[in-house]
Amino acid sequence: MKKFEYMEKHGYEQLVYFHDKATGLKGITCIHNTTLGPALGGTRLWNYDNEDDATLDVLRLARGMTYKAAAAGLNLGGGKTVLIGDAEKVKNEGYFRGLGRYVQTLNGRYITAEDVNVHAKDLDFVNMETDFVVGLKHKSGNPSPMTSLGCFHGIRASLKVIFGSDSIVGRTFAVQGAGETGDYLIEYLRDAGAGQIYFTEINEKHIKKIGEKYPEVTFVEPDKIYELDVDVFAPCALGAVMNDKTIPRLKCKIVAGTANNVLDDEQKHGLMLKEAGILYAPDFVINAGGLINVYHELQGYKRENAVNDIEKIYDRLELIYKLAEEKDTDTQEAAKIFAKDRIATISTVRSNFVKR
Ligand code: NAD
Repeated sequence: MKKFEYMEKHGYEQLVYFHDKATGLKGITCIHNTTLGPALGGTRLWNYDNEDDATLDVLRLARGMTYKAAAAGLNLGGGKTVLIGDAEKVKNEGYFRGLGRYVQTLNGRYITAEDVNVHAKDLDFVNMETDFVVGLKHKSGNPSPMTSLGCFHGIRASLKVIFGSDSIVGRTFAVQGAGETGDYLIEYLRDAGAGQIYFTEINEKHIKKIGEKYPEVTFVEPDKIYELDVDVFAPCALGAVMNDKTIPRLKCKIVAGTANNVLDDEQKHGLMLKEAGILYAPDFVINAGGLINVYHELQGYKRENAVNDIEKIYDRLELIYKLAEEKDTDTQEAAKIFAKDRIATISTVRSNFVKR
């Protein structure tokens, strides 16, 4: 892999490899862009086939974090760490304290958090060695309710565009996946007076849980969820669910959920949804509630301040939808333009010397 060529093409700042023989810790931290603030992004532990796969993953994920933080209005840059290893075998106190020590060497240019196979209890060990870690249980807690809250407000902003009113009352929904975020989203929608809510799941325990908690919500088989005649389709499970096969089957007016990487091919399927007359809420904008929540740990965590900032997902989506219209482009592309514009503007604003 031609790393410097890739870094130059996409404007990366730093790529750091680290290894600790005693604990078997082997990882890579990538800092994409710190124009807005320190790079923040979780640590993912994965048994990558080879080092190039791990490198490409950390590069892509870090860049995604730059745009997510910028579009969320946060003073954060984008970064990420990947650890190469088998989560069943490598995890222990020494391993995560070792990680904490490497994070500390970056002296605050990078702040870590949870991601796949790295959980709040692992971060407690990381926190023994570094201050540059967020998402701690005793601080901001579980991010999922906050992610769903942001998604709820994003759905309201999307309804306003399509129906002229952001009221949830009587609107109909198809929720794909009722794990952490899907469950909380169903609760917010139901409490706000939604009409019929359908959901799908593949995990029997979750199907039972939703049936007991919300008896008025209707289960449908996984493959039937796409063609329901509802106002909003909310992907809250997997990525790549908007693709050549599913988009032609949709009868909804809006696609807006918590899942990451919803579009199989960003450019192609963003445009396909636009051409089908379906409003797509860009995933990295509507699902930023969890990120906004952990960001508040850096400000001295107060729940009401986090909630206040999460509500602003509504306003940002409104701006992005307007921008998409002005530029005659799809909403995913508009969200990226929005994020890049913010980075460019703030870097200009900060070019003056001001004593604080
Ligand atoms: P989760 O694992 O708790 O829930 C996902 C659910 O989807 C599971 O119950 C699973 O059984 C179900 N599922 C999987 N495949 C399915 C299928 N084909 N049809 C129907 N259901 C299926 O995960 P989560 O934390 O709710 O996250 C969901 C999505 O949101 C992921 O893409 C995640 O990356 C994204 N996200 C989550 C957060 C957060 O705060 N948890 C933040 C940002 C983005």
